[in-house]
Amino acid sequence: MQSSTGVRFEAVFLSKNAPDDDGIDQLIYWCKRFDELNLAPKSAGNLSVRTKKGFIITATGVALGAAERGNLAEVVAVEIEQARIVVHAKGKLTPSKESVLHSEIYHSRPDINAVFHVHDQLVVGLAGELDLPCTEGEQPRGSYELTTEVQRVLGLRKNARYLVLRNHGVIAIGETMAEAGKLAEDMNKLAQNLTRRKRAKNAGNARI
Ligand SMILES: [Zn+2]
Repeated sequence: MQSSTGVRFEAVFLSKNAPDDDGIDQLIYWCKRFDELNLAPKSAGNLSVRTKKGFIITATGVALGAAERGNLAEVVAVEIEQARIVVHAKGKLTPSKESVLHSEIYHSRPDINAVFHVHDQLVVGLAGELDLPCTEGEQPRGSYELTTEVQRVLGLRKNARYLVLRNHGVIAIGETMAEAGKLAEDMNKLAQNLTRRKRAKNAGNARI
C-alpha cells in the first residue's frame, strides 16, 4: 500500500479560529457514526461539507471518532503546483491531506455538498463483485494523481455518487450529508450481506 506522495502538502492559516457553520454538528455526527462502524481505523478517513467560502473538513492525524468543533478546519482555497499542494485554511489544525480531492470534487460537481471518504475494507475487497466504479491502479494517498483518477472515474459516470479507491477506501458524495452518509452505510451493509452469503455457501459446499 502506498502512503508517500512525493508531493509537499502545506497549510497556510488565514485564521486560527475554529470554523463555524450550521453543518458542523451533523458532520461530527457522521464522523462518530463511521468510527462506530469501524470504517475509519486509526486516523483514516476524512469527511467534509461545503460552506459558502469552501468546505469544512476533518483534520489530518485526528481519528474520526475524536472529531469535534475545535479540531475541524475550513479550506477556502487549494493551490496545486508540480510538487506542492498549498491549502489555505481557517482553524487550529492542518486540514486532511486529501483536501485536494475534496476540493476538486466540489469544483466539478456543483450539485454535491458533502464528500465522505472512509476505509471500508469489505467494500474495497468486493468492488468487482459489486460492480462498483473503481479507480484503475493504485495512486498514492493525498496525491494529485489520485485526485485526477477520481475525477476521471466520476467523469465517466456523471451521476455516480459512490466509488472505490483501489486497495484504499471509498468515497460517497451527496447533495446532503444525510445522503452521502446513508449511501456509505448502505454499501457497507450490502458488502456484509454478500460476505455472509458467501460464507454460508462455502460452509454448505464444505459439508458436501
Ligand atoms: Zn484514505
